[in-house]
Amino acid sequence: MSENIYDTIIIGSGPAGLTAAIYNIRANLRTIVLGGDQPGGQLTLTTVVENYPGFATGIGGLKLMMDMQTQVKNLGVEIRNAKVMGISKFKIQNSKFKIELEDGRVLETKAVIVTTGAKARWLNLPKEKELIGKGVSACATCDGMFFRDKTVVVVGGGDVACEDAMFLSKFASKVYLIHRRDTLRAQVYIREKIKLNPKIEFVWDTEVININSKNESQNSKLEDIKIKNNKTGEEKVMQIDGLFVAIGHDPATSFVKDLVELKETGHVIVGKSEKYPTMTSVPGVFAAGDNVDDVYRQAIIAAGHGAMAGMDAERWLGENKS
Ligand code: NAP
Repeated sequence: MSENIYDTIIIGSGPAGLTAAIYNIRANLRTIVLGGDQPGGQLTLTTVVENYPGFATGIGGLKLMMDMQTQVKNLGVEIRNAKVMGISKFKIQNSKFKIELEDGRVLETKAVIVTTGAKARWLNLPKEKELIGKGVSACATCDGMFFRDKTVVVVGGGDVACEDAMFLSKFASKVYLIHRRDTLRAQVYIREKIKLNPKIEFVWDTEVININSKNESQNSKLEDIKIKNNKTGEEKVMQIDGLFVAIGHDPATSFVKDLVELKETGHVIVGKSEKYPTMTSVPGVFAAGDNVDDVYRQAIIAAGHGAMAGMDAERWLGENKS
């Protein structure tokens, strides 16, 4: 067998991909994980993870992913930091898909599991990225706990921004919800609920135009933000402890758009086959994690979903040998 032919190629190295890999290698399948350009996925941008079972006092996001990666490697899975440009169907003997890598190399496989996740949208302001984990976050569920009795801002006007604001109000003393328009995009029931929350104050027609940190050293921390009312032009500085950006996520699925069916949002459609719940519209191509899930978006859900995809791929391979 050519060294480039695998039983399963898993694209993406977050919790979904690495868990799928654990299940595949333990099923004796020749498995490789192609880790992409942000190996470990979104969790590597999170500080402490306290909502992943098994860690009594929580665990750093980066450490969790590094440990998961070590576990996967120890089981014998090859992990390569390679970016996939496209997948095409093909048939020579029992190999079914060609995976084209950014560096021009091509791998062959009998099944594919797409676990490329999603990327949070950011405001694209200077300092925003360097302050992730130092006051700036795109995940209230992950980081909300660290803002007990603090003042925080949520940016956005959709369901997630509203849910984040309500979640953060359990910890923070004050939550400002800054939205660029004067109407929320969020569903009616969330809109009604959020208005009743005494800790949440709306700042309408407003955009964050600058993010400032306390010092320029490695230990810099969010200090304040500058906001601008886009109707009056008025600018104001707000001293805050936390900035939660909730302006949407984009699933990393453009490289499979010509292969499998996607939702309008770009999430991969799975679940059409009762037998293989994680199978996409193309037999032999499975998907799991945040590139499928536009509701929960949690590491533990992605890991569970990855386990399902690994098991589905294994059963499908067993039943589709030629
Ligand atoms: P979303 O619905 O697309 O909302 C994104 C929000 O961010 C919008 O209010 C948008 O403003 C704002 N925004 C976008 N780019 C911005 C920028 N550069 N600067 C400032 N504001 C910006 O995204 P989401 O809230 O993440 O929700 C994603 C999907 O999940 C939605 O379909 C949502 O319904 C669904 N969801 C459902 C539930 C639930 O049913 N319980 C819970 C969570 C999420 P504009 O309004 O002006 O465009």
